[in-house]
Amino acid sequence: EAITVQELASRMAERGADVIKALMKMGVMATINQTIDADTAELIIGEFGHTVRRVSAADVEVGLEGDSDADETLLSRPPVVTIMGHVDHGKTSLLDALRQTDVAAHEAGGITQHIGAYQVTLPTGKKITFIDTPGHAAFTEMRARGANVTDIVVLVVAADDGIMPQTIEAIHHAKAAKVPIIVAINKMDKPGADSQRVRRELLNHELVTEDLGGDILAVEVSAKAKTNLDKLEETLLLQAEILDLKANPERQAAGAVVEAKVERGRGTVATLLVQKGTLKVGDIFVAGAEWGRVRALLDDRGRNIESAGPATPVEVLGLQGTPLAGDVFVVVDSEARAREITEFRLHRQREKLAAAAGRSTLEQMFSKIQAGEAKEVPVVIKADVQGSVEAISGSLRQLGNEEVKVRILHAAVGGINESDITLARASGGMIIGFNVRANPQAREMARRDHVDIRYYSIIYNVVDDIKAAMSGMLAPTL
Ligand code: GDP
Repeated sequence: EAITVQELASRMAERGADVIKALMKMGVMATINQTIDADTAELIIGEFGHTVRRVSAADVEVGLEGDSDADETLLSRPPVVTIMGHVDHGKTSLLDALRQTDVAAHEAGGITQHIGAYQVTLPTGKKITFIDTPGHAAFTEMRARGANVTDIVVLVVAADDGIMPQTIEAIHHAKAAKVPIIVAINKMDKPGADSQRVRRELLNHELVTEDLGGDILAVEVSAKAKTNLDKLEETLLLQAEILDLKANPERQAAGAVVEAKVERGRGTVATLLVQKGTLKVGDIFVAGAEWGRVRALLDDRGRNIESAGPATPVEVLGLQGTPLAGDVFVVVDSEARAREITEFRLHRQREKLAAAAGRSTLEQMFSKIQAGEAKEVPVVIKADVQGSVEAISGSLRQLGNEEVKVRILHAAVGGINESDITLARASGGMIIGFNVRANPQAREMARRDHVDIRYYSIIYNVVDDIKAAMSGMLAPTL
């Protein structure tokens, strides 16, 4: 059950380079001639908005339904933005304040609904979509499930507080996903606000703002006094322009599940972010291992709409079951096809669960290294003091050769928390705890998700183990 990148690309009628890029976004490094497994291939197929055609129970055949998204079909689309930052630095307040800048809100009325994402229309008519689930845990959870919905991360830093531990976590989550960061220096209305200090502190995390000679855009704002929100929005649009975000609106829709829940009297209610194509009432679609027929579409003001184009978040009624946040969705041609795909996925999920039982991220990483599919050993480093964080990072950076290198996803002082587990899982990496332990929730998550945590108190042993890991000689702890 494997396919070369080249073959996958040509069967989807996509460019090989684009497929490689999409794989990279998922953290898979592959060349055009390398083979990838069927699961990865299927994620990629979903990513490109194509559907998977099953030939036999054991075989996944790529089918092309709808357009092939030739260059001339692509139109500019709004950016999709996620807000991250330390607790209490103003993520929620900023989301609320930005939402109130929507010009459409004043014209059309409608009651603000919380559907997990919303879109703002600026006076110029340009739009920005915000994912309304602030926090890097949600962001990386979605990424772990295969959805890459975020184009730009807004990193909120309170000007009176500066860079805090979760700010650093957020930076590393965004970097691991290779998503560009724009910094919103918030709470500028406060007496103790010092934005220069924030800019200097960012330097320690390789974020160099423009005024200091780098290319990171930063904007001073106040969510409370509602100052400079237009400047932040302009900056987002500027970054979007650089990213040259495009999608073909004239095709069957594909995208990601932002959230899904069961509501009394309404059945499963899911917020979908359309990433390409246009989703219409009556469409049949597959989302993860569930399927449905769009019975109603509602926008972020709770109004019924007939269709939703690229970068539009919509609430959808009509799902048969409840998919998970981060599941990829695609529109298919018929109910029979939808059932076939979901049955196949359920079957495969069971197989995968059975196969993955006891298989840790470390073991999975080894088989990838040995198959020549992985070139990195991703690690999260947590230690009791900054000196140890630096010493371990420094030593590990020096390891490696042409074939395999260590990739440090996150290195910080403190105990091992849930965010560390999510990050390691999304990148298929392991966690190093130096004179620190994991909290009970993190330990439970690691056990459930088979993320390898190793504890050390001697740096020499860390280096030795990682050397062994790079050659596939380290036994998993789970
Ligand atoms: P979150 O935890 O990052 O979502 O932060 P919140 O949005 O809940 O904000 C935390 C606290 O900071 C709340 O009491 C807010 O009222 C306050 N706050 C948020 N933005 C600003 C701001 O621009 N200026 C001031 N003075 N307070 C703010």
